[in-house]
Amino acid sequence: MTPHEQKLLQAAPAFRKALLAWFARRQRPLPWRTEVSAYRTVVSELMCQQTQVATVLPYFERWTARWPDFAALAAAREAEVLAAWAGLGYYTRARNLLALAQQVAGRPEPRTAVEWRTFKGVGPYTAAAIASIAFREPVAVVDGNVVRVLARVGGVRETFRDAGAAAKSFAALADALVDPRRPGDHNQAMMELGATVCRKAAPDCAACPVARWCAVRGRRDAAVLPRFEPKARKTATVVRALVRHDGKLLLRRNPRDAKRLAGMAELPELATLGAIAPGPVALVRRRTIGNVTYEETLRELPATAAWVRAWTRADDLEWVAVDGLEGAALTGPHLRWLREWLSRADRPRRGTRP
Ligand code: SF4
Repeated sequence: MTPHEQKLLQAAPAFRKALLAWFARRQRPLPWRTEVSAYRTVVSELMCQQTQVATVLPYFERWTARWPDFAALAAAREAEVLAAWAGLGYYTRARNLLALAQQVAGRPEPRTAVEWRTFKGVGPYTAAAIASIAFREPVAVVDGNVVRVLARVGGVRETFRDAGAAAKSFAALADALVDPRRPGDHNQAMMELGATVCRKAAPDCAACPVARWCAVRGRRDAAVLPRFEPKARKTATVVRALVRHDGKLLLRRNPRDAKRLAGMAELPELATLGAIAPGPVALVRRRTIGNVTYEETLRELPATAAWVRAWTRADDLEWVAVDGLEGAALTGPHLRWLREWLSRADRPRRGTRP
């Protein structure tokens, strides 16, 4: 622990008080804060794991209106759960949430972070958030926002291998700082502070409630903390096929036990459909996931009778009606690309009758 961090611990009561007073004034009125339950906390935490709050909000409202508690979700079919998640990405979270609901429904809810950690998809951060927010257990949440605040407040200039290593390094300090009487509010306030004031590129030190204890307040180099080792960037190119036949589209369904996107449907990769000459390029889209940039080219493929027979026999391929795409548990980008392609392909050409 740095000398500055030790000083911070001595000032812990005043730090907590200032933080909580700021949170009471400035917190965003998020739906899982205005109505708190274990179920709503679990849903919001899993949805927010790798997705921004603004994106999560409409999904959370729709989800909790449709499945208001663990019992309702436990009775849902996996396909409808995946379809409701479509667009949030990282679909394993939806499957884990469904499995968790099936285990919890009808039993007393687990209360401690240790108990919540036994569920698949619930890591130390999520378990601490659920236990502290829904059950007032005094355990600290150490997510990226909290790491950023603590690294700057403590003036920690160490370079971390990755986010996990940084979280581990700050766990003891975060636990010692957490307010034992209001751990849920304290954790949410720390996360809120990192998300809205102690921002990654532009910390707003003038508006910061804990500036008086911060080692780098107002300094230009505050934004470089915490430091991480640089990651090598990679590029991957993928060519996918757009096949339409008899009002249906050809999709590939990932196996239920697949490591990636289990149970989800995607546009099939061209190379997996056989030696057939593709038609024109319909779309080219780039997206970056982590340190990999994917360049995805979508090409139309003619649906000859022989190929339609072969694809129909394949176990991992399926035909989905064009008007049933929304319920097909397609990944978000693929659903968007298909909508875009269909709207272009079906647009009447100038001079032709509709
Ligand atoms: S004073 Fe500035 S750098 Fe320090 S915690 Fe507050 S916003 Fe972050």
